[in-house]
Amino acid sequence: MTPRRTVIALGGNAISPAGSAGTAAEQTANIHTTMRGVAALVAEGLDELVLTHGNGPQVGNVLIKNDLARHVVPPVPLDWCVAQTQATIGFTMADTLVFELAGRGIDRPVVPVVSRVRVDADDPGFVTPSKPIGPYVTDTDEVARRRADGEDWTRIDARGWRRVVASPQPRECLDRPAVELLLHDGAIVIANGGGGIPVVAVPGEPLRGVEAVIDKDLAGAVLATELDAEVFAILTDVRGVAVGFGTPDERWLTEISVRELRASATAGEFRAGSMGPKVEAACRFVEATGRRAVIAALDAALGAVHGTVGTQVHP
Ligand code: ADP
Ligand code: MG
Repeated sequence: MTPRRTVIALGGNAISPAGSAGTAAEQTANIHTTMRGVAALVAEGLDELVLTHGNGPQVGNVLIKNDLARHVVPPVPLDWCVAQTQATIGFTMADTLVFELAGRGIDRPVVPVVSRVRVDADDPGFVTPSKPIGPYVTDTDEVARRRADGEDWTRIDARGWRRVVASPQPRECLDRPAVELLLHDGAIVIANGGGGIPVVAVPGEPLRGVEAVIDKDLAGAVLATELDAEVFAILTDVRGVAVGFGTPDERWLTEISVRELRASATAGEFRAGSMGPKVEAACRFVEATGRRAVIAALDAALGAVHGTVGTQVHP
């Protein structure tokens, strides 16, 4: 059964797998491979399709450039950095997907949308920022200077310090109306890259970007819910969700109800920062829509969307 409207969230391995140097050529080649798989899905009959993607290593690289060049050009805020990664990853996805579709005789526009996601100014995450971003820094004078500039830093381990920022809850995909228009006109849309550009509403003023990063799976769930997608697929570098992950009792979940999955989450089965937010995102989507979410391997996209592989989460 082919879903009418699908939202697919692509993890880090879709762009730069662990261990790759992350050059532009390498990222382009990886994205191309991923888009070959997406084109196959479209050729199989997937109609309305929205892709979202992570940006962790890429936004980290932009931050490093910001820091090193701070005496030459003014550093830009984190919301700008996210926007930059949406642009570079988005156009590369569009280029390679259009190419792969054309090779299958399919002529459809692919449109990356610069996407803003609204967060609450009073999200508890802003009080105690906890999400490490960017490179490790060992120079304590440098850390002290940047703390004096208002940044939060934490010592991670022997590798040094990292900046920490808030990771607030995504509330609303502000560019969802544009995504709807594009879908209606037959485009494949790339949206909410890197979890979206975090903005807060300020009465009587334009939206204001904030120093935060939004989890891309949680933001994907909001987008999929707002778009009333039939399936929300989270594609990553493991075959699905396991209980007892990494232990001798490891068991991979196939078909599971959202209630049972929540029970495993409450029992502490899923790590914060990796499988935790994916499970939470899948649960939120299924609870909000009564539809199906799936967490599966990137190279199993077709079966994942059709409901045959990965961890299928049901109402
Ligand atoms: P992505 O970059 O695709 O968002 P992450 O690295 O954030 O992916 O999360 C996927 C990782 O989650 C897997 O590579 C795996 O090591 C880890 N993981 C943690 N707990 C679990 C679990 N219970 N089941 C499966 N994978 C898990
Ligand atoms: Mg990863």
